[in-house]
Amino acid sequence: MPDVFADLVGQDEAVDTLRRAAASAAAVLRAAAVAPTTDAAGDEFDALAEEAEGAGAGAAVDPGAGMTHAWIFTGPPGSGRSVAARAFAAALQCAYGTGCGQCPGCHTTMAGTHADVRLVVPEGLSIGVNEMRALVLRAASTPSGGRWQVVVIEDADRLTEAAGNALLKAIEEPPPRTVFLLCAPSTHPDDISVTIRSRCRVVPLRQPAAEAVAEVLARRDGVAPDVAQWAAAAAQGHVGRARRLARDPEARTRREAVLAVPRRLTGVGAAFDAASALIEAAEAEAAASVAETDATERAALETALGAGGTGRGAAGAIRGAAGQLKDLEKRQKSRATRAQRDALDRALVDLAGFYRDALTMALRAPVASVHTDTAALAGAGAQKWDAEGALRRLEAVLECRAAIEANVKPRIAVEAMMLALWKG
Ligand SMILES: [Zn+2]
Repeated sequence: MPDVFADLVGQDEAVDTLRRAAASAAAVLRAAAVAPTTDAAGDEFDALAEEAEGAGAGAAVDPGAGMTHAWIFTGPPGSGRSVAARAFAAALQCAYGTGCGQCPGCHTTMAGTHADVRLVVPEGLSIGVNEMRALVLRAASTPSGGRWQVVVIEDADRLTEAAGNALLKAIEEPPPRTVFLLCAPSTHPDDISVTIRSRCRVVPLRQPAAEAVAEVLARRDGVAPDVAQWAAAAAQGHVGRARRLARDPEARTRREAVLAVPRRLTGVGAAFDAASALIEAAEAEAAASVAETDATERAALETALGAGGTGRGAAGAIRGAAGQLKDLEKRQKSRATRAQRDALDRALVDLAGFYRDALTMALRAPVASVHTDTAALAGAGAQKWDAEGALRRLEAVLECRAAIEANVKPRIAVEAMMLALWKG
């Protein structure tokens, strides 16, 4: 049976680091069990560091092999930041300290039901201060399972400044037995504050090779090997995206529509039409992805509010209800915006892959195509545009992504890109 790190594709170095840290963490717990008076995490980690150094005197033990209470997992989207954080959380809760994948600690953490593992997945564009304060407060409590309180924050780059400060306070004065695992694209100050960064150990993940992604799709998800290979290449190292392409016909249809853009750009009018189509497709995809959750949440809230009755205080309850519904609508709108941006970004990454293929063909570079199914079209582009023309188009797509990231209105950025792609 595979252990908890099995799904971390193509990240051998990071897995080594995490395994060693989990073993060190288990040693901390064993030491604490022998000497129960030691209750400060700092003392435990210091004792551990000494232990590691002692071992290092004889064998070549990495001094960074030990455990620490705050970690940042960085890497490009789809490289497995949150997979790594969850696996490490499981290894910390593992009865054997190894992330065996079999014991209740491993099982419940991977299933998301462990009482001492809290997972923050921001649904909107940012993680607010109230959410963070509540989290930090709960994380300070004694772990009910006797091991660690683990807080996993996916997309820590979406922390508001105030939320970041609340988190920083907790990381600076860590409660005993609390471990923070943050996920972010990079340690650039735009993604994570310098002060938080300075308190954390960084685990960099790389973009996994297509072969490694194809292997895991075939082994874990039972995808046919040829489909797995095609999906892994088309997803450009994004494991989740590769799985969706392999298994979801709608995702394949949307991708084909995006890759049809280059041959449709026959004039100014066509460029604007293509921009509209791309934006509307992203909106439709996003709407479909959040519709069900929105409806369920609203129904649940209305039921809860409807149970309030008509007795004394009902007027106040109704005023409160209006406020709660408004809050919910605000949250849902923020989540929908996020989903639209994500969908549009996926389309732009696919499109960038097409022009990258044209560029590598024009340069006769010995690298595999991203989109094997549009290789002929990319080859025709390479002949027509040469390397410079293909590069200019690739840059136009990347500039569009950067503009949207910098809060330019998506429609304006996409229209500018389509015109640039048409003009070359
Ligand atoms: Zn286990």
